[in-house]
Amino acid sequence: MFNAARITANLKSVQDRIVAAVRRAGRKPDDVKLVAVTKYVDVAVAGALVAAGCRDLGESRPQELWEKAELFASSDMPVNWHLIGHLQRNKAAKTVPLTSLIHSGDSLRILQAIDEAAKTSSRRAGVLLEINISGDATKHGFALEEIEPALSKIASMPNIDVRGLMAMASREGDLDQARTEFAKLRELRDYLRTAAPAKVHLDELSMGMSGDFEVAIEEGATIVRVGSALFEGAIDA
Ligand SMILES: *Cc1c(COP(=O)(O)O)cnc(C)c1O
Repeated sequence: MFNAARITANLKSVQDRIVAAVRRAGRKPDDVKLVAVTKYVDVAVAGALVAAGCRDLGESRPQELWEKAELFASSDMPVNWHLIGHLQRNKAAKTVPLTSLIHSGDSLRILQAIDEAAKTSSRRAGVLLEINISGDATKHGFALEEIEPALSKIASMPNIDVRGLMAMASREGDLDQARTEFAKLRELRDYLRTAAPAKVHLDELSMGMSGDFEVAIEEGATIVRVGSALFEGAIDA
């Protein structure tokens, strides 16, 4: 069971905090999009978020995204799906047609598979390039020094639209560290903009989760990916 009124209230509270952070940063509310991360909850709870006005939902596992997207497709609720976690190549064909933005473009190999999947399904695939901003070898993403030389190869993939960069802060709960890493992603983006082929657009910065989305907005996030803050007190254990 879950409490739909609490979910609506949580969504409002997160949206208000986004607007406050946007104002502090001297930016415009339309500059920042909320992706509600539904990986912890079932499709009924996700539906309560959509009913409360949230149109962008994110999943970190491709199979979960497939299952929820299929259930929503038959419900006529309009949802833009975001894949925010690692994609395996053998799952690209099924994921690309269901997804409006893949945040986890984390290697040339997966981008090639996404490009082929887009071609096969006669569509274009929107992707973000995931950067391993902390340099932690256990994390996915392009290393800082890998991304610039990769851009010309990425630009030559005809069915991919690069829209920006994505990263995760290295440690939860350390806001100073998160701020440093988010600023680093923004600076990398600003630098790559001067170096990137014209076809590669880097407007979007997907960074910030429940614990650090306000800091991310102050550092330039255009997309925040928020999960647990939306479900606090709303789900029975
Ligand atoms: C789970 C997840 C989130 C949301 O995390 P919360 O702390 O629950 O808001 C954001 N981004 C990615 C990549 C995730 O896997």
